[in-house]
Amino acid sequence: MRHIKLLIFFLIASIYSCSVGDSDDDFQKDPINDKSTSANLISLNIEYKSSIFNYTINEGVVEMDRPMPFDADEVIIKSMIISSGATSNKKVGDKLQISSNVQEIVITAEDGSTKKTYNLTFEVNDYTSIVDKHGLLQVNGNKIVDKNNEAVSLAGNSFFWTNNNWGGLKYYKASVVSWLKLDWNTTIVRAAMGVEDSGGYLDDKLSNKNRLKVIVEAAIDQGLYVIIDWHSHHAEDNTEEAVEFFKEMATLYGNHPNIIYEIYNEPLDVSWNTVIKPYAETVISAIRKIDPDNIIVVGTPEWSQKVDLAANNPITSSDNIAYTLHFYSVHHQQWLRDRAKIALDKGIALFITEWGTIGYTQNDPETDKWMKWCKENSLSHCSWAVNDKVEEWSIVKEGANSNGSWNDDKLTESGKLTRSINRKWLE
Ligand code: MG
Repeated sequence: MRHIKLLIFFLIASIYSCSVGDSDDDFQKDPINDKSTSANLISLNIEYKSSIFNYTINEGVVEMDRPMPFDADEVIIKSMIISSGATSNKKVGDKLQISSNVQEIVITAEDGSTKKTYNLTFEVNDYTSIVDKHGLLQVNGNKIVDKNNEAVSLAGNSFFWTNNNWGGLKYYKASVVSWLKLDWNTTIVRAAMGVEDSGGYLDDKLSNKNRLKVIVEAAIDQGLYVIIDWHSHHAEDNTEEAVEFFKEMATLYGNHPNIIYEIYNEPLDVSWNTVIKPYAETVISAIRKIDPDNIIVVGTPEWSQKVDLAANNPITSSDNIAYTLHFYSVHHQQWLRDRAKIALDKGIALFITEWGTIGYTQNDPETDKWMKWCKENSLSHCSWAVNDKVEEWSIVKEGANSNGSWNDDKLTESGKLTRSINRKWLE
């Protein structure tokens, strides 16, 4: 009797494992609805370099959820569900060559009465990297435009503060940039170098700067845009430090189209006209003596929300200046979009170098509104933050691999939401 119980348990476990589609080694079949005459492909996922690409199947049409990298060559069938009892010419674990472009998946019903052929196509990027495609970004009126003067809108990730012992620095790795590019379709990253607080740049210049440089150089290698962020709330207190830092960055990286300078993350409630603007003009002047053309983004009062004040008195000493807009969807809603629209209508370009979801849930209607608004206005944005700290905006759960390669189980709800935004942003 004991053996029979074990056997029953085993069968149930097997069926369940098939139905959720996460088994690597078994050909999977829908256990519930299909009859022996059915020959349907119900779901299909493929794997490339540990990243899963999902297909949607609608009335025989099979489409990928996002394009694959330019140089993708071979993929593996990761999971596949077909009608119960049916057979297929392809199975989990089969390797498919992308160069052949179209692969046929033929499903034959259990009773042989029906045979269906699904044409599996591979959508592959027609450019080697996003920076190769768009080149040096420039400001034209209230838009960020590419080398062909076309408006550009990018979706990406901000890393956490670089500060010693703040927990986020373990993700400052080239492998994380690679994973965000491959698995998230991320096209821009932001290295957020803490300045005044404990363990920040003023305490330990070399360590903080080296962390930032890892991300900047990984982005250059991999063809992503990258924001060099002076992650400060009091930058006007250390103008000379900012000048020295950005002179070094401009010297090292100013000839790369990948680079965007962000010279003041979030000013507090200080004057735009008499505090932030003079600070910005000093730093901009220093950068422009070395790098005449890469975009410089300037923070705005009250945690980079008062973009209207910058619009009333914009910086005219240099071209290619954009202004920072930050939002967190739980706090900042239509009123901030209205304010930002006024600034855009006055002719300044905005850059959302940081934003946050509501956290804890993917059901975030305000984020949906913000993303729709970003699309309409061709705005770029980086979500806060690549970290595993237990707070609502971290994209991965505590202890997640510091080299990337995060499967769904390692993502927070905020991580799942922002990944889905990034993956489909360039459609
Ligand atoms: Mg340059």
